[in-house]
Amino acid sequence: MPPKLTNHPYHAVSDQGVIESFNTNWEKGLTAEETARRYEEYGPNELEFQPAKPAWLRFLLQFNQPLLYILLIAGLVKALLNSWTDASVIWGVTLINAIIGFVQEAKAEGAIASLAKAVTTEAIVIRDGQNYPVPSQELVPGDIVLIASGDKVPTDLRLLSLRSLQVDESALTGESVPVTKTTETLAEDTPLAERHNMAYAGSFVTFGQGRGVVVATANQTEVGKISQSLQKQVSLSTPLTRKFAKFSHTLLYVILGLASFTFAVGLGQGESWVHMFDAAVALAVSAIPEGLPAVVTITLAIGVNRMAARNAIIRKLPAVETLGSATVICSDKTGTLTENQMTVQRIYAGGENYKVTGGGYSPKGDILLATDDPAHQNIRLDDHPVLDECLKAGLLCNDSRLEQEGNDWSVIGDPTEGALITAAKKMGYSKSGLTGSMPRLDSIPFESEYQYMATLHDHSPRVIYVKGSVEALLPRCSHTLNARGKTIPLDPQPVEQQVEVMAAQGLRVLAFARKIVPNQTHSVDHGDLESGLEFLGLQGMIDPPRPEAIASVHACHSAGIQVKMITGDHITTAKAIAERMGLGKSNPVIAFEGRELSKMADHELTQAVEDGVVFARVAPAQKLQLVEALQSKGEVVAMTGDGVNDAPALKQADIGIAMGKAGTDVAREASAMLLTDDNFASISAAVEEGRTVYQNLQKAIAFLLPVNGGESMTILISAVLARDLPILSLQVLWLNMINSVTMTVPLAFEPKSLGVMQQPPLNPKAPLLSGKLLQRIGLISLFNWILIFGIFEWARTTTGDIAIGRTMAIQALVLARIVYLLSISQLGVAIVRRLRKLPSPESNSSAIFFGVGSAVLLQVIFSQWGVMNDLFDTAPLSLNQWLICALPAIPMIPVALLANVLDRRQ
Ligand code: ADP
Ligand code: MG
Repeated sequence: MPPKLTNHPYHAVSDQGVIESFNTNWEKGLTAEETARRYEEYGPNELEFQPAKPAWLRFLLQFNQPLLYILLIAGLVKALLNSWTDASVIWGVTLINAIIGFVQEAKAEGAIASLAKAVTTEAIVIRDGQNYPVPSQELVPGDIVLIASGDKVPTDLRLLSLRSLQVDESALTGESVPVTKTTETLAEDTPLAERHNMAYAGSFVTFGQGRGVVVATANQTEVGKISQSLQKQVSLSTPLTRKFAKFSHTLLYVILGLASFTFAVGLGQGESWVHMFDAAVALAVSAIPEGLPAVVTITLAIGVNRMAARNAIIRKLPAVETLGSATVICSDKTGTLTENQMTVQRIYAGGENYKVTGGGYSPKGDILLATDDPAHQNIRLDDHPVLDECLKAGLLCNDSRLEQEGNDWSVIGDPTEGALITAAKKMGYSKSGLTGSMPRLDSIPFESEYQYMATLHDHSPRVIYVKGSVEALLPRCSHTLNARGKTIPLDPQPVEQQVEVMAAQGLRVLAFARKIVPNQTHSVDHGDLESGLEFLGLQGMIDPPRPEAIASVHACHSAGIQVKMITGDHITTAKAIAERMGLGKSNPVIAFEGRELSKMADHELTQAVEDGVVFARVAPAQKLQLVEALQSKGEVVAMTGDGVNDAPALKQADIGIAMGKAGTDVAREASAMLLTDDNFASISAAVEEGRTVYQNLQKAIAFLLPVNGGESMTILISAVLARDLPILSLQVLWLNMINSVTMTVPLAFEPKSLGVMQQPPLNPKAPLLSGKLLQRIGLISLFNWILIFGIFEWARTTTGDIAIGRTMAIQALVLARIVYLLSISQLGVAIVRRLRKLPSPESNSSAIFFGVGSAVLLQVIFSQWGVMNDLFDTAPLSLNQWLICALPAIPMIPVALLANVLDRRQ
């Protein structure tokens, strides 16, 4: 029976003591039944977060918009003047506005939060003596968990054994320097930050590995205890919403200015001040695009969903927009630009060249001598002892395994290692057989920083196998084996030549070496490998480019986005792949090695980074420099990364992109976006969606503002000329809220336009309202003003009824608006292009029809239903009057087309 999880000071209990008190087993872990039982008892290992702000507060904050203050005050004054209907309609409308905003915001937050949640972290746990990856929610007290660099510590662990384990505990202690861990028992009063034999949930492993026993889960963990103060918050603020907020502030002053002006002019002309107050309120109300904030949130949320459907999970909302502005994408090679489907094709060992037949991870295939004479190709492994050693090294110095399902073979672990297993299997080796006769005593796992991995094996004599990059291994080798397996001094030159030959074909080349060690050796450390290794050979593997990535690189180029490859791989290999993918504007591509970059002065580096297409053997720390150099040139940089050391670069980049499959938890946490398929094509898809979001927002603004413009011109001019207002403030509210929102929301669902990836990236510094947009808004506003004024005056004089005049002006405005909506939607573009027999873009006709249909229905209710007539001072129209209202829609066609033409003109 495990102990109750209280504040037990496990750091002060010996490792064996903790194992006993949790009734678990150091080597084998818990049994499956016991795990299930404990899960029942303790529940999932999940923190329960309190929402950052209570719902009522979030609702009230909806009113915290300068433009809404005006409405609230207007309502108040109306109430003081005893116009209770007016007051309640104004308040009712602001309330509806707040409800829409609240619901939309909650939906957007929920969507983003649940996307983030869908990306679960996994932990490696030992149960029934086997290693399993399990979602970290399923951990129970007493579980034995393995952690390694890059992992997020899944729960609180008492460490049992470790190798150079370093953990970043800044989330918990605020200390930013990683802590080196030990396993010794500590004094009971050791403060949290100094409990070096514990690893706490929420911290990150930055180096090494360790094994620990779970001593607390969920809210019992240290971070769980303080989770009440650590609130999970999804921010909905983006550069655009901030620009928008600034715009609202400016607008507020303009409105207040105009409203006071109207008020003063009217009073000066001897109007009653109640009447002028009405006009001022109508003006204020008419100029405010009340529906816009809701539309912005909806558009961003739809963008997030569309990106998710294309395998790009947004973790930080601003990335949705920033993607549209990206000018450079720095991408990893392996797995992102390439398939990460490795197959060994060439082997060089004992001075001989071999070719390997077969594809994928299936062990079907042979290793043959690389001669053109078929009679002399077949080999017997006994006659090729060095090849034999090289294959064995690949198999033993290996943490991955193959899995077979029918004829499908796949790798569990690292594809590079999978390829080595397959190669050895082709000569009849099996991993289990070989590890049985040469059990592993110790290992140094692969880290990008060192570019190699080593394992120590029990044999007589004991031997360390090492595999890694040629640059990392060759300088450590003093000897090699000749064709018969005899040790001779190493001449590195022919090896380097072979490396160039393989790499020029785009092969990823791994070097292999060994070191015979005394029989009492029990462990292996970096120090043991500094020199005196015996070089065994090279294996060259193909990792084909992803076909869809090639297409996406093309798409990026025509969209004005540079693509740069940043890789830990060999420069020649990287160049060969980059050229095959068309990464540069011309071949050969400009390539730099990390070493060269580190020697450059700042200005040289900036130039190299701007010109270069391939950056090879780049140390993770250099990625940060690359990002900074590009940014200093004004580039908006998207950067991919997967390792622990990539985190600073991912944070610095304008859009940090982590790999959902291959990436470490550390990289994910630092990123703004996650790729679920690790595929470059998904980055360019996300860019496309980001641009579409921006376009749709521009469309929404282009659609909404001209109505505000037309209304305010109408009211301003009428008030100044002391004429009757053609629309009243409540009617304006109806138009701006109900009608605008129903008709604008479909624009958020607009599909991408034909040329979206044929334009240069968006300038993030561009103002919300560009010159072109202002020109368009001005033109349509003018049209709307003439329409409202014309119809109102005409209808009033012919019918003598001011209510009918106003109602007709509003209905005509809405009907002409339908034409305008079509003209800026993809549906309109599609119709025009189909008439001209040109290829037409996707269009979202159902959303547009739904929006237009609902708008028309609401307008009919607005004028034909008695209740609405009382509330909004409208009047029912006859069929003839309706038909007349439809007339202005006809001149709207050429005006809208003119606006489109002006837009396209440079
Ligand atoms: P990349 O995968 O882009 O080549 P990495 O930093 O992961 O970059 O790897 C750097 C180099 O280390 C590789 O080019 C390869 O030579 C070597 N390497 C990669 N994976 C392993 C591994 N599992 N074991 C040993 N060496 C490796
Ligand atoms: Mg790699």
